[in-house]
Amino acid sequence: KTIVLKISGELFSKKDDSFFNKDFALEFVKQIKILKEKCNIGIVIGGGNFFRWKTDGKSLNLNRSTADNVGMLATVMNAVALQQALLNIGVEARVQSAIPISPIAEPYVRMRAVKHLQASRVVIFAAGTGNPFFTTDTAASLRAAEINVNLLIKATKVDGVYDSDPMSNPQAKRYEQVSYDQILQERL
Ligand code: UDP
Repeated sequence: KTIVLKISGELFSKKDDSFFNKDFALEFVKQIKILKEKCNIGIVIGGGNFFRWKTDGKSLNLNRSTADNVGMLATVMNAVALQQALLNIGVEARVQSAIPISPIAEPYVRMRAVKHLQASRVVIFAAGTGNPFFTTDTAASLRAAEINVNLLIKATKVDGVYDSDPMSNPQAKRYEQVSYDQILQERL
């Protein structure tokens, strides 16, 4: 079986102010090592710990495309750091970037990604979709569809879809299941 795991960049800065918290990274890669006994794993990593267009982009007065480019490069930094963390505990991993950055990572090539996964290497998909105006959630869905995985998991700081922000509203209602139409109708 093959899964794609989308992990938000913010999780890597959760315990302190560092961009890439080494304790969290170590805990995360140890869990990947255990999970890898059961399935092949592709990881899409975000970049929110380094840069967010909504906040940093606006405060720096960057236009949306420029800010998104910076955001995508932030995901490359996370991907490379995560690859090293995996290698350090003996897990083979490759970074494939949607934006060619050849001395640092392989370019994204679907067939090659599939070969890596079949050879039991973790593939870290960097630079999102390679296009501005998207997020790494879209990239995770895209890679999962391209590779035809059995399961797509999103690991983030919120545990589901709510009718309002559970961080600011303790009464926020969590949806056990939600349809696409419902998301549009209720503007979730
Ligand atoms: N981004 C983009 N296109 C993509 C993926 C990401 O432009 O296909 C940019 C976008 O600015 C985004 C940032 O990269 O805010 C970091 O990704 P994301 O917000 O998904 O990271 P996360 O919140 O998961 O850490």
